[in-house]
Amino acid sequence: MSSTRQKSPINNDISAGEDIDQKRLKYVFYTSSLFGGLVILGFALSHRHSDNLALKYSLFAASFSIFFAYGYVYLSKNMRAGVFVASLILSSLIIALVVTGGHRNTGLYWIYPLLFVQFIFLGAFRGLIHSLVLIGIMAAILAKPELVPAQYDPAEISRALAAVATLVLLCFVSEYYRQRSHQDISTQHTAKMVEAVTDPLTGLTNRRFLDAFYFPDCRRETDRHFPLAVIVCDIDHFKTINDKHGHTTGDKVLQRVARMLSDNIRSNDVVSRVGGEEFLILAQRADLETGTAIAEKLRKKIESLEVRELEDGISGSFGVAVCQRFEQLNDTIKLADQHMYKAKSSGRNCVVAE
Ligand code: GH3
Ligand code: MG
Ligand code: MG
Repeated sequence: MSSTRQKSPINNDISAGEDIDQKRLKYVFYTSSLFGGLVILGFALSHRHSDNLALKYSLFAASFSIFFAYGYVYLSKNMRAGVFVASLILSSLIIALVVTGGHRNTGLYWIYPLLFVQFIFLGAFRGLIHSLVLIGIMAAILAKPELVPAQYDPAEISRALAAVATLVLLCFVSEYYRQRSHQDISTQHTAKMVEAVTDPLTGLTNRRFLDAFYFPDCRRETDRHFPLAVIVCDIDHFKTINDKHGHTTGDKVLQRVARMLSDNIRSNDVVSRVGGEEFLILAQRADLETGTAIAEKLRKKIESLEVRELEDGISGSFGVAVCQRFEQLNDTIKLADQHMYKAKSSGRNCVVAE
């Protein structure tokens, strides 16, 4: 199997795994901030006549800040900043609950879901560091319960700290292995995708790559691609090579030609194996003159390829056409194909451009 690797925009296009995780974070952020903001607002309203001013204002401030973060992310689409702000709000709320004790000293119960959300927002390692800092602050506050308005039973303090530490450990393990399995799935997905768009014999991209990635890219970024020179190359008398020297030699010829083609095109251009011994070369921002010059250069290179078994050498026939707009792409490929057949009927081993 050849080591030829196609130079192409393929690696930029296959990043679906990352997008899926970003989407997950987006959905979790929107639902948890909306739901969390409403719940906290509910508690704030139920405490609107309360004497516990610190608790009352902390709840109102937390709920409005969460709605603000929601609105900011919705408008700016800056998820990183939104998650950072939401995480700071949650941390402040946790400390406020520990200090004030919440409603009749039940504030500690709410620390558990809030810490869980931190892990979803921040991921395994940042979530762990963040939570350990919070536990440290909580422990420092609870070490001197007489200095805070909340009134905790000593047994309650130690149990709460132990339960919070257990929760943080479990969240870390769960998030860490979720991230790892996500990464493994994403790697497998990318490998399968690359395999599906790669020709196993030559290592070049195949027609599926053009349909799934290259042509959609042409439609999205017209200025970068058009005018696009379409070059069809077909090896001459390939059937005779197979018949005279065997299929293995035929395969070797295909690999040598494929490597030569991909070594002699520009890094942004693409060469695909689109048929048995037929290749399609797409040269971006190239007019008919440039496309013809590229085809002529490649024709000469094929002619000068030396394959030990073939004393008569190899040659290829080329057809060139230029596409100005995405809508003309199919017709241009057909035209380049017709030009290639003209080159065959004109004696082969030549380039026909019009
Ligand atoms: P022309 O000059 O008109 O192009 O003639 P040709 O013999 O090259 O064209 P034809 O279409 O008659 O034959 C193509 C041959 O390519 C037939 C097919 O068996 C062979 N072929 C297709 N795929 C492969 C492959 O993967 N490996 C090998 N060794 N041969 C292949
Ligand atoms: Mg042929
Ligand atoms: Mg052919």
